[in-house]
Amino acid sequence: MNERHSLGLLVFILIGVVAGLFVGWYWGAAAVGVAWLGKLFLNTLSMLVIPLLVSAVISGVTSLGDVRHLGRLSAVTVVYYFVTVFIAVLIGLFMVNLIQPGVGVSTAGLEQPDDVIRAAQERGFEDILLSMIAPNLIGAAAETNLLPLIIWSVAFGIAIASLGRKGLPAARFFESFNEGMMLLVSWVMYFAPIGVFGLIAGMFGAAGSTEAFVEKISAVGLHVVTVLSGLGVHFIVLAAILLLVAGRSLTYLVTMLRAVVTAFATASSTATLPLTIQCAKEAGIDERSRRFVLPLGSTINMDGTALYEAAAAMFIAQAYGLELGLGQQAVIVVTATLAAIGAAGIPQAGLVTMIIVLQVVGLPLEGIGLLLAVDWFLDRFRTSVNVWGDAVGAAVVHRYLEKRF
Ligand code: ASP
Repeated sequence: MNERHSLGLLVFILIGVVAGLFVGWYWGAAAVGVAWLGKLFLNTLSMLVIPLLVSAVISGVTSLGDVRHLGRLSAVTVVYYFVTVFIAVLIGLFMVNLIQPGVGVSTAGLEQPDDVIRAAQERGFEDILLSMIAPNLIGAAAETNLLPLIIWSVAFGIAIASLGRKGLPAARFFESFNEGMMLLVSWVMYFAPIGVFGLIAGMFGAAGSTEAFVEKISAVGLHVVTVLSGLGVHFIVLAAILLLVAGRSLTYLVTMLRAVVTAFATASSTATLPLTIQCAKEAGIDERSRRFVLPLGSTINMDGTALYEAAAAMFIAQAYGLELGLGQQAVIVVTATLAAIGAAGIPQAGLVTMIIVLQVVGLPLEGIGLLLAVDWFLDRFRTSVNVWGDAVGAAVVHRYLEKRF
């Protein structure tokens, strides 16, 4: 896709967002009638994820030339993930201490959301580790459980590369498979304006009338303000990393915006992954970086989610009048980071792993009830930041590769 094309498409996607907001809020429940357009787009994107991810990671590893480079590449990637998630959590804690959104919020009548708790209990910390290896790869793919697929693809890529000449046909096969997948993604991207429109109109339509929505938001208004301003600050911090560390201009942001806006519409980093990789390709990101950093990032690098989890836990503590000292806030830093790593790249996954944070810090689980009404809304913003964090990571690793190899 050339530059003019992609800019034009971005404009249409933004028109889709505005039209979706307008239709959703103006027509309310009736707007749900166009939600199928969004579902179609989401399903199409999701359909591309598994074959794209497997072929991208395998060919990413084989294109490294020397697999020993993988160690350093992974180290830089993981350092980037941890540093940025850490900054995100600190921003979340700073904002929540500054704004104190929970003070005075009523917790009367809150009940434990059993479905969320059950989902969380099925996914404790040891399960996060266990889930890295799937006994059945096809089963993992069927459940869009990406981590085992990534681990298998990296291992298989290393195996093919280690075979030398014998491995070449397989390496070429996955390379060409991946090119085919990328072409498919660029076709699907043309459907994004309508898909984004359908997703946003459907979502906001389902939220009920404007008054009902505003009422729900204003009940926890300061929490929304805290999270959104924290995410806004982190977005800017990431942009600064892009300029200073990755040495890129803000044109990169413009190129990646199609993916960031799609993340907003789908609330899923995983579903957005095909577009994230495609935009990074158009931005000239080295294939070794985009094929490795972006798939891994879409499942474990979640700055927005980590910021949200830290801010939300503190919000609940404030609402219950519980003072959390520095020690407990440090525990929040660690657990929010791990909970974000453990969260899947699907809508509202962060709400489920939030339970882990609350349990470790000893906060009342009923507090989740305060977040439920607006979570779907905040999820969109944190998913956009998650995808932006991955995109900046790909640019940082690109810079590293340029300098070192
Ligand atoms: N929806 C988020 C994502 O896909 C995860 C979450 O924070 O709920 O990145």
